[in-house]
Amino acid sequence: RAKEQGRDRCAMFDEAMREAAMHSLDLQADLRRAINNRDFLPFYQPILRLDDGEVVGYEALLRWQHERRGLLTPPDFIDLGEDSGLIEQVDWLIYEQVVRQIARGGDGYVSVNVSPRHFRSPDFADRLLAMFEAQGADPSRLRVEITEVALLDDAPRTLRTLSTLREHGILAQLDDFGTGFSALSYLHRFPISVLKIDRSFIAGIGDEGRPESLGLVRAILALARTLGIDTIAEGIETDEQRQALLELGCSFGQGYLLGRPTAEMGGVALV
Ligand code: C2E
Ligand code: MG
Ligand code: MG
Ligand code: MG
Repeated sequence: RAKEQGRDRCAMFDEAMREAAMHSLDLQADLRRAINNRDFLPFYQPILRLDDGEVVGYEALLRWQHERRGLLTPPDFIDLGEDSGLIEQVDWLIYEQVVRQIARGGDGYVSVNVSPRHFRSPDFADRLLAMFEAQGADPSRLRVEITEVALLDDAPRTLRTLSTLREHGILAQLDDFGTGFSALSYLHRFPISVLKIDRSFIAGIGDEGRPESLGLVRAILALARTLGIDTIAEGIETDEQRQALLELGCSFGQGYLLGRPTAEMGGVALV
């Protein structure tokens, strides 16, 4: 009897595994088809100067217009995209639309996210610059967001890519700062222009937050100031957080309080 139950449990487990695998296979097939159909678009979230509320730029955030499931955000499929290597193709579909948007005119910058593996591919910078050339767009209006992981290995290549981009006015922003393998030497060694302070630190500011968050943010700001690097606080949701960041001397911010990601570059001079 016990043995039988054990077998049943195994069968159930196998079934769950099979379904999970099927689901991921389904999604991978969907992803391939979606790449062919170009079912991806950038949403734009404003980045503001905190003291006067001026919009200085936008972050382009990937969205998948799925034929049956509606609008999907990266957490729904980014792991699959990275594991299957398909994310690079999706990224290029996004960059293409961003470059076209920049070519239309306006001012301010647009930052795009680059997955770590993608950033290490040898022709990344050249291919990106070729897109600007083809569209007659100004590359200095673009910024790239990379994470600390992208700085981890093959330092010479990473340095070369960052330098090539910078020669064309494309600045690099270090995304999710404080969550990765932050080492002071990276910041020193690579031409990084902006630190984006991870949302988790900002979420810790306020009555329901964590007491140490304010101190951690203060330390990150001091570090950035020492290195002459700008800072953007991610995920500002309350006015209390905005106020605290302003008082601590954080120059720029992004978050639902200041503006949600939308399909248009909402209400600002860019279009
Ligand atoms: P990220 O680069 O750190 O982007 C910020 C994420 O925080 C976005 O999630 C944004 O919608 C969300 N966010 C902004 N303000 C707030 C806020 O006030 N509260 C909360 N709770 N969330 C806020 P999203 O769009 O789901 O993107 C998730 C991640 O997916 C991004 O994190 C980035 O790492 C990645 N990603 C986005 N677009 C691309 C892309 O084109 N290519 C690649 N490779 N990765 C992308
Ligand atoms: Mg980002
Ligand atoms: Mg971020
Ligand atoms: Mg983040």
